[in-house]
Amino acid sequence: MRPSSERTRQTYLHSQNLKTDSMPWVCTTDSKHVFTSPTKDYFCPSCPPYGGILMDMDSTPNATNNNDTIVKNAGLYIFLLDASGSMFSEEAFPGTPINRAQLVSGQVANALWSMSNLTNKSNAYVLILLFDHNIRPFINFLTVEQIFTKYPNIQDLQADLYSTMESLKGATDINLALESAYNYAQMFVNGSIDNIGKVEPMINWAINTKTGDDFEMPNIRCLIFTDGQHYTGKGGEIIKGNPFTNFHYKNKTCNILMGAFHGTSNDPGYTQLRHIIANCPIHDEKQFFHFSNPEHIMRMRSLFRMGSGPSGYCEKCLNGYIRENH
Ligand SMILES: [Zn+2]
Ligand SMILES: [Zn+2]
Repeated sequence: MRPSSERTRQTYLHSQNLKTDSMPWVCTTDSKHVFTSPTKDYFCPSCPPYGGILMDMDSTPNATNNNDTIVKNAGLYIFLLDASGSMFSEEAFPGTPINRAQLVSGQVANALWSMSNLTNKSNAYVLILLFDHNIRPFINFLTVEQIFTKYPNIQDLQADLYSTMESLKGATDINLALESAYNYAQMFVNGSIDNIGKVEPMINWAINTKTGDDFEMPNIRCLIFTDGQHYTGKGGEIIKGNPFTNFHYKNKTCNILMGAFHGTSNDPGYTQLRHIIANCPIHDEKQFFHFSNPEHIMRMRSLFRMGSGPSGYCEKCLNGYIRENH
């Protein structure tokens, strides 16, 4: 096909809001933005910067543009993974020749694997955003079911994740990463992601053990793995705050951001990250996971129970699950 006729065809498809096998890449924010191939960073070129993620509709057969369909018992897990240069250059634990990127890719692959026994695999969505001073989606709102179709074994998933992280290795803009993750979480729960449509999240009921108050939270979580050192080279190098303070569902705010840090608590990144993290609504402790030695890294597996029970928020939630499971 000559380039000019290909352009005409693209314009036609664009205006007709059609998806064909040759235009499988569709924007999360506006499903009229369709493309034959993804952009290099998987963000939509027709939206404002980082405004829409391109989803591969060929690997998301359940995705729909039909606004009458509601995804019931939906869950969303966002992994926000630091892929800046320092994640590769430093040992996570003194004396152990393993960098944080290796640990993170292994932990996330394991976490996804632990979701393989979920009952609601087709309603549990995952968004994995890698960041340095830019953002690069790695899993673009695939369901857990679709992830296992794409990656039949955990080694392939971990290797692909690690090599994609390696393609970033720049500076560290934690503010941009948090802001993007917050926007996508809020869009998901508002039903404004075009290709997913309206959602009714699974609701977690819990009781605050200090006040005795009960509360409900949608089963949506964001977990940031970072070495915690915000550095863009533009000056003013601080983590501005936690945009998830404004995350709301049914007119109530709920802070769904959790942090994970590898290394010693003397590390400046530890303090910076921990500082912005909110307290668990059940235990009133920081929603923060600190891995100070290599034996700790498998500890998070039971955190991910999306679709089969409540996800946790803090170390105490995790301890509860570990006791419950053994
Ligand atoms: Zn777009
Ligand atoms: Zn807790």
